[in-house]
Amino acid sequence: MEIIDGRKVSIDILNEIRSEVDLRIKNGKKVPHLAAILVGDDGPSQTYVNSKIKACEKVGFKSSLFKFESSISETSLVDEIKKINENKDIDGFIVQLPLPVKINQENILNKVNPNKDVDGFHPLNYGKMSLGLDTFLPATPAGIIELIKRYNVDTNGKKCLVIGRSQIVGRPISILLSQNNKFANATVTVAHSRSKNLNQLCLDSDIIISAIGIPEFLNSEMVKNNVIIIDVGISRIKDENSIKGYRIVGDVDFSSFKDKKGLITPVPGGVGPMTIAMLLKNTLRACKIMD
Ligand code: NAD
Repeated sequence: MEIIDGRKVSIDILNEIRSEVDLRIKNGKKVPHLAAILVGDDGPSQTYVNSKIKACEKVGFKSSLFKFESSISETSLVDEIKKINENKDIDGFIVQLPLPVKINQENILNKVNPNKDVDGFHPLNYGKMSLGLDTFLPATPAGIIELIKRYNVDTNGKKCLVIGRSQIVGRPISILLSQNNKFANATVTVAHSRSKNLNQLCLDSDIIISAIGIPEFLNSEMVKNNVIIIDVGISRIKDENSIKGYRIVGDVDFSSFKDKKGLITPVPGGVGPMTIAMLLKNTLRACKIMD
């Protein structure tokens, strides 16, 4: 399989953003500012937020982290969001998910100012995305579309299987890929935990996007030759040879694909870095709205 190198593409995008930021500074314009809200001390969430903040430094953005104890009430969190909505210096912000179970996630996301909603999860932006209107796209699906564009993947009339139907990956990428445009014009099937005959669906597909979080679930015997595989899954599995005691794998049993023809994203180094790059692209867009 040939590799779709998400790390390389993401570096290209970060460099493009950096050039725009440099130009903005030269022209006396505002430096984009991304804020993140982190509630509680969930390990992976902290890691994701840190990566986003580090990426801001790379492109010359300002960043802020608003950290709250998991005991914060929903009302207080809404008040904090209102403050960020009104803060003129902050162009865009994200609420790192998942939130503690006692907090109604939907209610929180509804309170984000749609013009600062760089995750694209506010119903207004999600609705615009569904209608094919220009808006903030959720970062992971946007990253997948960007990989498809930059690797000239032909989606026109292709059978595309999306495995997983989450609000943040499976559902939006299935909507985007079925839209009538140059880069996303596929015949999309969405599979999920209740789907029957997943093996047959995989074998029938030209493009497979897997976002389920089951380590190394998809292997080369389940797909046809010349397939294009986008692996969104991120799972930790035990690895005594690693200092951390674990390693990161995707939904795809990557090693089983070495003799197969087609294109594939690795994990790590595929969709993950693209997600961060697209979040920063959304933040630049938010900043331009305020110009
Ligand atoms: P989720 O965890 O909310 O839901 C999983 C989905 O998989 C559900 O829709 C479920 O129906 C489906 N599913 C579960 N078991 C299945 C099975 N046996 N067959 C078919 N479908 C099945 O999904 P999510 O939040 O989209 O996360 C999915 C994976 O993607 C996780 O590993 C997550 O860590 C990863 N992720 C990666 C990025 C990135 O930037 N690379 C971003 C978001 C999520």
